[in-house]
Amino acid sequence: MKIIIGLEIHCPLNTKFKLFCNCLRNIGTCAICKGEPGSYPLPPKEEVIEKYKKIITLSGLEPIGDLIFERKHYHYPDLPKGFQITTRRKDLFKESVDSPIYFAALEEDPASLKGDLLRKISYSRCGNPLVEIITMPIFNNAEEVSLFYQNLEKDLELNNLKSRKEPLRVDVNISLAPTGLDKKVPNPQIEVKNVHSLTNIIECINTEQKRLSERYIYLESRKEPLAGNLLMTDTNHTRGYDETSGGTRYSREKESYIFLREINIPPITLFKKNREKESVVMNYTSLYSKLVLLIPEASAEELEEVLSEGWASLLIIKLESKQEKIFLFRYFLIILKYCRLNDYTTQEIISLTNYALENPITKETLKKIIISRTYDDFYARKRINITFQELVPQLRCLATRSDKIQKIISIEERRILPSINIRELLEF
Ligand SMILES: [Zn+2]
Repeated sequence: MKIIIGLEIHCPLNTKFKLFCNCLRNIGTCAICKGEPGSYPLPPKEEVIEKYKKIITLSGLEPIGDLIFERKHYHYPDLPKGFQITTRRKDLFKESVDSPIYFAALEEDPASLKGDLLRKISYSRCGNPLVEIITMPIFNNAEEVSLFYQNLEKDLELNNLKSRKEPLRVDVNISLAPTGLDKKVPNPQIEVKNVHSLTNIIECINTEQKRLSERYIYLESRKEPLAGNLLMTDTNHTRGYDETSGGTRYSREKESYIFLREINIPPITLFKKNREKESVVMNYTSLYSKLVLLIPEASAEELEEVLSEGWASLLIIKLESKQEKIFLFRYFLIILKYCRLNDYTTQEIISLTNYALENPITKETLKKIIISRTYDDFYARKRINITFQELVPQLRCLATRSDKIQKIISIEERRILPSINIRELLEF
């Protein structure tokens, strides 16, 4: 049975200091990070805010308000003061339809607990800066999750945002995909907390998919009223992942938290009015976002191929025949080779794709592109920053210039071009 999955990914930040005190990250402890009575937090340091801003940029999120901190109240020995300081969600980011990530929270890490019965608490981690990246429930299987996770991890590492020694810690939210389900049979939302590696995430998704499907089929097949058959695991709940068995087990009901404003920390303006762009390397995360929107039906395998090959192939997946795919692939390869696609907005890429799909892509069009003014423009002047607006009129114009084309083909064929095999393209 189909499932839907959303992720909460906790990224320990690679900073020198803790979030709200002057202790060295992972090493020191003081009254503030241990939450002793009478202590109060200091405003976050610049290095933390800078790294948080880079994660916002990578995630494709657009802040519309100031960063405000809140106390999230809960009782657990990992935070002795009884609350965790975290980011207020309301009105921080613009709602976006073209990103799988809908929120990124800057918060303090709790202490780490070891052992089951006689628990030991280590406070060296307590107060470390942590960014929680939350996705929409948009994944349908372990492969999609795996692709997204790997790209995100790569981005975080390339930009030196993630602490090298600590893994990402993921909460996996899973339920059966609601379409086609009998509404009378419960479809609980499961949150598996603190899964520490991709292998474990995959294992956890597969285990839960099996467990949820089997339970659903069993309950659906019962003829007597459901009420008498229901267990506490048939309602929304949190589970723990057991690394040794690869299984999950019931841990508690889903809880709701009380949030109160943390008044010791003033609001922080993240980006100035003319928003300075954070420079981030290899923006796989936002690339993925654009892909998912553009081609929602693409499989994880196709997405992976696209991400590894670059932009050109992403635009061909929609086509049905293999021949069409190869053709369009090459068509775009030539155009896109000379453009910096990260400068494009999703809307521009969609327009470009639609243009290509609505207009017949023939051998003639391809030839025109190879020998066209567009090509010369890109190649001869080495212009790589051409905008989409400049590109489309040229493409349209090219489509009407077929008579001139044949005359220059013979000359163009002899031209040796870097990494494009013109002869192969023309003989296609
Ligand atoms: Zn401290």
